[in-house]
Amino acid sequence: MTSFQPTAEFAAELDAQDALRDFRNQFHIPLAPNGQPSIYLCGNSLGLQPKAARAAVEQEFESWEKLGVEGHFHGTSPWMHYHETLTASTARLVGAKPVEVVVMNNLTTNLHLLLVSFYQPTATRYKVLMEGGAFPSDQYALESQARLHGLAPDEAIVELRPRAGEHTLRTEDIVATIQELGDSLATVILGGVNYYTGQAFDMAAITRAGHAVGAMVGFDLAHAAGNLLLHLHDWDVDFACWCSYKYLNSGPGGTSGVFVHERFAERPDLLRLAGWWGHDPADRFQMKKGFRPMTGAAGWQLSNAQIFPMAIHRAALALVDEAGGMPALRRKSEQLTAYLEYLVRRLELPATVLEIITPADPAARGCQLSMLVHQNGRQLFDFLAAAGIIADWREPNVIRLAPVPLYNSFGDVQRAGQVLAEWAAGKAK
Ligand SMILES: *Cc1c(COP(=O)(O)O)cnc(C)c1O
Repeated sequence: MTSFQPTAEFAAELDAQDALRDFRNQFHIPLAPNGQPSIYLCGNSLGLQPKAARAAVEQEFESWEKLGVEGHFHGTSPWMHYHETLTASTARLVGAKPVEVVVMNNLTTNLHLLLVSFYQPTATRYKVLMEGGAFPSDQYALESQARLHGLAPDEAIVELRPRAGEHTLRTEDIVATIQELGDSLATVILGGVNYYTGQAFDMAAITRAGHAVGAMVGFDLAHAAGNLLLHLHDWDVDFACWCSYKYLNSGPGGTSGVFVHERFAERPDLLRLAGWWGHDPADRFQMKKGFRPMTGAAGWQLSNAQIFPMAIHRAALALVDEAGGMPALRRKSEQLTAYLEYLVRRLELPATVLEIITPADPAARGCQLSMLVHQNGRQLFDFLAAAGIIADWREPNVIRLAPVPLYNSFGDVQRAGQVLAEWAAGKAK
């Protein structure tokens, strides 16, 4: 890795050796104002459109057009069982058994559904641990969950904060906080990857620590699914959910995935908000009283499947599988991000100008590098945009760049580095 070079020729060599290089052609790459394909480094926010997505949706339009209600039972992929066609890929994606996953709803909805089951505070065990400055939807979800149980959010929610002068959390500090909270801790809910800093958490260690004090442990994997190698079952995680439109390229507002550990698969007594699609299919259509949940994560379903977003998701997941799954994607991802890091570091900008706040340890990050730009960050962001580089801006002053292994090339990263170098040279004048 230390033998990187900043030249376009060097990047072209890496691209020539990249076994995944042709997957880029399976995506629509938005054009920059100059008519050239943009350098799209924003897959952490919205992944690009797989070319196969349109035909997948059109197929369901056709079933609806030709079959009407019979599309539930006939057609190329009957809607009645449509969601089940996502199970195998989803289980592979997150390191789960098929019974532990289901695709349904949207992320924040699923977070609430899971918290109803896995955050059940009592008089003495009522605290919930999360990241300070977590994604706002997660903060609002937790606040309202606390209130649902008659608790003041400030009393129930404990927020983790980095040490003074640091930007990310240390695993040892997370574990120490869990131990301190001890018997008062009901639930731990962290991001798998923090959306702002790009830090990937040690989910196995955090889960162990949580379980050791008798707490439930779950993760919001919005920025981790399709990004990290996940082993949710082996890590013994209790519950998790994620969206499909970031690293999973399944379109704006796309559907969401859920993981519930196998040990809860046969727990009809576990409180949940119920709907007919989670009911035992043997008598779902008897329309009788008395909810009996299906085995596994499927027992958390509420509604009949959203066929159109799921059609996109299925096409997108097929690409992940075709590429060799997360092990293959992760291998390229580590190299892409390391190359980007090299190109930023070689500018040797003082930390008072620009600082990478994402951990340098590849095991503690995914695709994304977050750059804290202390002066004129917005100007740099606009400079990148004018050069056809689509990054993303987070208030107050962070630029996130996320080279994605399925459709970004080393050439993309090299070009981004070159534009950053032009900006840095302009500053030096
Ligand atoms: C992207 C993201 C969300 C978005 O939630 P939706 O319900 O899909 O709108 C929530 N939480 C985290 C951590 C995210 O990164």
